[in-house]
Order: sequence, then C-alpha cells, then structure tokens
Amino acid sequence: MELTLLGTGTPHPNPLRAGPSQHIQLGDSSVLVDAGSGVARRMVEVGKHPVELDYIFITHMHSDHTIDLAHLLISGWIANRPKPYIIIGPPQTREFVDRLIHAFEFDIKLRRLHDRVGDDVMNVNVIEIEDGGTFTGTDWQVTAIEVDHGYVKPALGFVFEQDSTKLVISGDTAPCDAVIKAATGADLLVHELTQGRPANEANYMVDPQGNQLQTQPEIRNRIADSHTAPDQLGILAQESGVPRLVVSHLPSNFDEAWATGVITSTYKGDFKVGHDLLQLTI
Ligand SMILES: [Zn+2]
Ligand SMILES: [Zn+2]
Repeated sequence: MELTLLGTGTPHPNPLRAGPSQHIQLGDSSVLVDAGSGVARRMVEVGKHPVELDYIFITHMHSDHTIDLAHLLISGWIANRPKPYIIIGPPQTREFVDRLIHAFEFDIKLRRLHDRVGDDVMNVNVIEIEDGGTFTGTDWQVTAIEVDHGYVKPALGFVFEQDSTKLVISGDTAPCDAVIKAATGADLLVHELTQGRPANEANYMVDPQGNQLQTQPEIRNRIADSHTAPDQLGILAQESGVPRLVVSHLPSNFDEAWATGVITSTYKGDFKVGHDLLQLTI
C-alpha cells in the first residue's frame, strides 16, 4: 500500500498546501480520498493522472474536500479515459455529482467529450455509503466509519485494508471513539488537525500572509468543536496504540514545532507532519 498526501491544507487557499486529498495505490487500484483544490495538478506531479483513477472516495460534503471533483472528472475525459468513474461517498454524493455534471454541461457539450470517450464512460457510477458500509476492491477492502464533524452529518472516515495492512484516514473530525477504535490495530493513522497555534493566540483563521480572516468567537468555537487540536490528537493516538501517525488538514499559520511538541508529549509512536507530496509505504 502506497500513500501519497496530495493536499494537506484547509479551505483557505495556501500556496504551500493544496486542499485535502490523499492518493492510495492498492495493488493495481488507483484510489483517491477527497478532491481538494489542486488535486489534479498534484496527481500529475507524482506521475499519476485522473485518466487512470479507479475509485474516488469522498469523506463529506464540505467544499474543501470536493471542490476539484469537476476538474478531475473532465481532465480524465479529455485524456480519453477508457472507463467510467466510480465515486464512493456519503448520502448526498449522488446529488452533488449530478449537479456538478449539470453545471458543466455546456462545456461538456461544447467539447463534445462524448466523441472522445463515449457516453458509457461518462456515465459516472456513484455508490453511497454509510457508517459500517464496506466496499471490496480486487484484493483490498474499505470500511466507512462515521466520525464527529460537528454539524456536518454525515461525515466519514475510511479504513483501508489489504492483506494484513491497515490504513485509517480520519476525514474531518473532532476527537471521536470511531477513529480510536479504527486506529487500534492499524499500521498508520492519517488524522486531521485544525488548530495550528496555541489556543490563546486565537488566530488560527488567517490567510497565508498572516492576516486574520475571522474574529467572531462563536464561529471559532464551532470550528474548534468539529475538528481536533494537537493536545487532543496526541492523547487519542496514544490511546489507540497506532504505531504511525501523520497529521494533515493543516492551517496556513501552522506552527510545526509547537504542534509537534504538543502531540509528541503524549503520543510516543512514529509521528510525522504531513506535507504535500509526502509518500509513505505502509
Ligand atoms: Zn469539513
Ligand atoms: Zn476540511
């Protein structure tokens, strides 16, 4: 199992971090989890291409996880993709994909994409999945777990298993038992992290130049309640016993030294801060 972090950022545009996306090579299967901003470009940077994708998993409907789905689909079709896309995500995924294709219908007709790839290839196959649902690939399996992303319901994480190897992608979530349970016995946990600086600085909503974007405390609190802070992550990862932890979904003003110090004060496994294009063998 080969994992590539394609995008490790958040909804806020960041020249250093594309939007949330992970690529997983599972034997012959080319698998994507989430389609954040810049994902198609990042794929090409690591020698992958949307034309080759077998499965696209979506964790939840927040735009930072879906915003480049149209770019992925159309890029594959333009490059003479030979097979339909298979998109697997929570309820709402089918409607979202239908609306997306409708939104780009004018472009699709203008380009006469059907002449390049055929209507059968452009017939996107959407599979909606809920907590505990599974999907089986050639020699691998994935299980959806419902995580706690506050007011975003449903929000999923995914557990990929191949032979005796197990990878957990948390999706966006506050600390939750579902992730701890899934990570227990796993080889690697990729977990989100939203707070990038000490809470008393209260300025984790900033643009890449450090300008504060959001000051209303109720919005800050809602964000904090639906994501995971470094102290919480260290504790939950240690409790799960997972031997390797990578953090992703990192804010523009992420203080790597501070967050690493907080997390590793409780988590004693192999810890890495995620960055775009980081590749790991599991
Ligand atoms: Zn989210
Ligand atoms: Zn997000």
